[in-house]
Amino acid sequence: MPVYYDRDCDLSLIRGRKVAVVGYGSQGRTQALNLRDSGVGDIRIGVREGKSADAARADGFEVVSVAEAAGWADVLALLTSDEAHRDLYRDEIAPHLKPGACLVFAHGLSVRFGLVAPAADLDVVLVSPKGIGPRIRDLYVEGEGVFCLFGVHQDATGNAKALGLSFAAGLGCGRKGILETTMRDECESDLFGEQVVLCGGVPELVNDAFETLVRAGYPPEVAWFECFYELKLVVDLMFARGVAGAFEKISNTAEYGAYQTGPRVIGEAARAAMKGVLDDVQDGGFVKKFMADYDAGFPELLARRRALGERPIEAAGRRLAEVAAKAGE
Ligand code: NAP
Ligand code: MG
Repeated sequence: MPVYYDRDCDLSLIRGRKVAVVGYGSQGRTQALNLRDSGVGDIRIGVREGKSADAARADGFEVVSVAEAAGWADVLALLTSDEAHRDLYRDEIAPHLKPGACLVFAHGLSVRFGLVAPAADLDVVLVSPKGIGPRIRDLYVEGEGVFCLFGVHQDATGNAKALGLSFAAGLGCGRKGILETTMRDECESDLFGEQVVLCGGVPELVNDAFETLVRAGYPPEVAWFECFYELKLVVDLMFARGVAGAFEKISNTAEYGAYQTGPRVIGEAARAAMKGVLDDVQDGGFVKKFMADYDAGFPELLARRRALGERPIEAAGRRLAEVAAKAGE
């Protein structure tokens, strides 16, 4: 996998362009601020009136409508929530873009699954910083950067790669490593990882383990410590040392138990489920369901979100926060 650093990127390219940042949330704000601090002088924020527009003005940016931003930009970073890309691009961006403009995406979802179909005269690149927006900003200010996944999806001008790398360097990613991949690989593996491991699998594992203990008569507070609280400690250790390195620091009891039980919990059934998830991602089935829920006003997303907050494990967490607060009384 090719990797690029600041020394491989020409910052003067992006500094010489009119850059529109559409969306001013977690990524939009961070990217606009980092680009400005990297010497990009001509930035406009394309958002509708409201919280995001107010935040962009408070940070000293010129705020314009999305349509105006699209007609003005040499480079347009589309950083609204993914589900908003389809309508926004069709109605307010595509009709106004200049030929030869460069579209930048932080996630390949809308292009990979056809929610956005850029005209052939546009450059289209992926610049996906691997981090949560505010954290990327903090690191940039400290003189550091985060990895980013980078890919050229469409090169109409012959200049897409150099310009995209310049944009990525403007975010600070050249300080750490810009890894070249494709929108397809980034998008499909991102969806798979967040569903199977990060946001789907791990919370479900934790919750079901917690509820198994509680149903068997163990106090919820104790179950909460053993199944949830300590997860952070172990993950920090794994993050710092790798799994094998972390296992050098845990007890032999824990290590032996891990070898016995890991494959019992994550066995044939779990692997078959993972393969099914990957199929749903690759054939577009997942994105189709997601957009159908969005089009209906997110009834399923909102109902599930409410139910999540009402789980007993959340109440146990709140009780322990109250216990800790009493220490200060
Ligand atoms: P976010 O924090 O939820 O911000 C969304 C922004 O989009 C807000 O400024 C919102 O403005 C605007 N927006 C939403 N719908 C809109 C519409 N119909 N018209 C105009 N503006 C609209 O989003 P995010 O997490 O930064 O995600 C942005 C992109 O970055 C996505 O492609 C995501 O996959 C990608 N990404 C995110 C992260 C991350 O750290 N969160 C990491 C890597 C990649 P309003 O205030 O007006 O609603
Ligand atoms: Mg993700």
